[in-house]
Formats: sequence, C-alpha cells, structure tokens
Amino acid sequence: MVPNELYRLLRCPSCYSRNLVVNEAAVSCGGCGVDYPRHAGYLDLMPRGVAYDYTSKYVAEEAQLAEELDYREIAPPLLAAGVRNRALVRLLALGAGDVVLDNGCGNGRFAVWNRERVALMVGNDPATMFADEALAQIALTQADSRRLPFADGAFDKSFSIDVLEHFPREVIDAYLAETARVLRPGGRFLAFSNTSEPSSLQPLTNLSRRIGRLFVRAGIYDFEREARRKSDHIKALRTFEDVLAAMRQAGLRPVRIVFWNSVFTSFVEHVVMKLGEAWLARRRAPAATGPVGAGTSRELQARQAVRGRLQQRGGLRLALELITRMMELDLWLFGRLRSGSYFIVVEK
Ligand SMILES: [Zn+2]
Repeated sequence: MVPNELYRLLRCPSCYSRNLVVNEAAVSCGGCGVDYPRHAGYLDLMPRGVAYDYTSKYVAEEAQLAEELDYREIAPPLLAAGVRNRALVRLLALGAGDVVLDNGCGNGRFAVWNRERVALMVGNDPATMFADEALAQIALTQADSRRLPFADGAFDKSFSIDVLEHFPREVIDAYLAETARVLRPGGRFLAFSNTSEPSSLQPLTNLSRRIGRLFVRAGIYDFEREARRKSDHIKALRTFEDVLAAMRQAGLRPVRIVFWNSVFTSFVEHVVMKLGEAWLARRRAPAATGPVGAGTSRELQARQAVRGRLQQRGGLRLALELITRMMELDLWLFGRLRSGSYFIVVEK
C-alpha cells in the first residue's frame, strides 16, 4: 500500500530534492520534473537517468523467477524463516514507535509478519514480486538500494534478510552507505547473511546432508529448486572480518552478533522436511511438467498443500512451531561459534 506517512519520508532518487508533489497517479519531483508512478500497492521510485553495471537476478529474470518463487502468498513464519524472524524481532528489538525499512524485502513476508509491532513498516525492493498481503498491508517502494528514495535519518531501524550475499562488493558498500544515511543517529540495522567460512561444526551438518543425498539417489527428493535459488550467491564478503570492515567503513558500529551453525537446522531441512514434502506431494497428482522441473513442481505442490492447513492452528502447525524452536536451539547453543551464517546488528 502507499500510506500518507510514506510520503513524508521520501526524497527524489534522481536529483535528491525533497520538493515532491503528490498527485493521484504519481509523485512528481519539483527539482528534476520526473514523475514516479503509483502502481496498485506500491510506488515506483527507481532512479531515472542512472546506469549501473550490476542488476540483480531478481530484476533481470523477474518473469521467469516469478513462477518458481511462488511469491504471491505468504505462509506463517515457520522453520528457517521462523528462526530468522524470531531473531530479527529479538535482536533488533522492534518496538511500537519504530519507523522501519525492510531493504531488499523480496515478496515482503518479513515486513508483513512484523508490521503490527511497529509504527510504520516500509518494504523496498527493485523487483516487484510482492505478495498480495504485502501490497495490501505494508508501505511498498520499488527502488534501488544504491540510491534510496528516502530522506537522511528517515528510519529508526532497518533490516536485510538474505540480501548481502547476492551483491558484488561495490554494491554492498553502496547499500551500507545508503543504509547509514537513511538511519537516524543511534538507529540500528540488522543483516542476516553468510560468508564462505565453514562452521567448526560442519561434520555434523554434513551428516544430515549425506542422508539427504541418499534421498536424492532414491528419487525421493531432488534439490534442483534449492540449487537454483542459491545460484547467484556471490558472497563478496568472504570472511566475517570482511563483514565487520564493510560495516565500519559505512560508519556502522557492531553491537550484537549471533552466528547460525546449522546443526539442528540442517537435520530438519535435509531429513525431516524433505521427507515430509515428498510424502505430501506423492499423495497428490503426479507433477505436471512445465517450465520448471519435476522436483520443483513437486516441492511447490507440497508447499501449496501445506499452506492451506497452516493458516489454521492445528496439529501440523503446532508440530512445525516445535520444529522451528528446535532449529532455533542452534542460535542459543552455538551462537558464539563463528560460522558462515550470521546475524549482525550495527548502530549508526
Ligand atoms: Zn528530482
């Protein structure tokens, strides 16, 4: 949605003017004359007249990915997404007075899940694969993170979940510099991402992976969709030292760090859930062959079947809540052991 509170946060992403005029169909810049159209549920605030070398896969292949990513509906925050969300709420201490930016929001699920905890939740992404609930319930902008359409100090808090690993280094630097600019002094930013550093608990994780691979060989499950989802991970910040250096360079001071060594998580994801998905999908009609492969269709079908049942609080929902808490044990037990995946909170 495009609430009135959003307008007072804006500045022109093309010429940086704050002299913006709001019309029925667009926001017009009094500085450079550009009209930024208002679409159903979001504002197009992409900078005009700026060319960048790098474009994210999500922008470049939006149409093809749209089908695979199954983005229009939002499931409850469970499993790996549930662990991320619980950590986000706790570590960033989202509060009732906060104006918050989810920068790189994807379909907007984290913003939707937390919109009622804060005063204003803004989701931003250059790709517009927004979920229906996001379009209806949170303030949405289509903008480039290297030139955010927001005034200096507009936000109390900002977060990015699974974003930084997609960017080359110069884009990360620009992203963090813009994050620092739009935060008020003392404002906080949480990033969840990963480096290339192996966890010291990797052998335990590998055991789950090996069991998972047995399923693949037996034809119970394939990991094609997961592989594609991770296909554009660059991990330009290779080590956690690189992460700290990039934050400091942007003027952001680390205040809280929790690593995610996925011991319980890996067992749940590679063994428990894959068996569950395969079982659910096989009870349904055989996978139709379309532009996505059979493994992907099977997983999507399983997800859609499950999602309906998750909206009601039943046995399945409760079981998944418990499994989510089990995965979260990884943060409580091993959160200080350095590994590839991390939550970091930094302060301006
Ligand atoms: Zn302008």
